[in-house]
Amino acid sequence: PTDLNALADEYFRLAYHGLRAKDKTFNAALATEFDPELPKVTAVSQDVGRVLLNLFTNAFYAVQQRRLKGEPGYQPEVRVSTQRCAGGVELRVRDNGTGIPAAVVEKIFQPFFTTKPTGEGTGLGLSLSYDIVTQGHGGTLTVNTQEGQGTEFVVMLPTA
Ligand code: ADP
Ligand code: MG
Repeated sequence: PTDLNALADEYFRLAYHGLRAKDKTFNAALATEFDPELPKVTAVSQDVGRVLLNLFTNAFYAVQQRRLKGEPGYQPEVRVSTQRCAGGVELRVRDNGTGIPAAVVEKIFQPFFTTKPTGEGTGLGLSLSYDIVTQGHGGTLTVNTQEGQGTEFVVMLPTA
């Protein structure tokens, strides 16, 4: 049994502080909204932890990319929330970063697909995450995005 709230909270901070240690210019507001009544899910917490780390890292990268464009007044923010849903629990990772163009979003779950410069991304994160969530845990991983506005990934994990 895994407490997704605790896992998400821990990895969210870990990812943020890890990135800040590498890049002092990196900064983002972190927001969390955890359902206190969230049921535990049967999960391999190391695997779900890797999924979360990748989603958080991608979100932080996207807000940093948008920040570097120098839009006046831009405030980078990444929001993580959990809630109960039919048959299980849902975790959402929402950023107000670059967003993903329609032609790109179709490819993001493919292995080795990346838009990042060599050395900054393997393109394996989302493809592994997809397998862990769907085949590994019987859940779903979906994306909502708007180019120039931001992106939201939704992880759904079934409760037994
Ligand atoms: P990587 O992070 O190594 O590039 P991923 O599989 O994690 O590989 O992501 C694949 C691609 O999906 C990224 O290169 C990027 O183009 C896009 N992407 C993923 N998450 C986001 C996000 N939150 N905002 C914008 N683009 C994203
Ligand atoms: Mg990634």
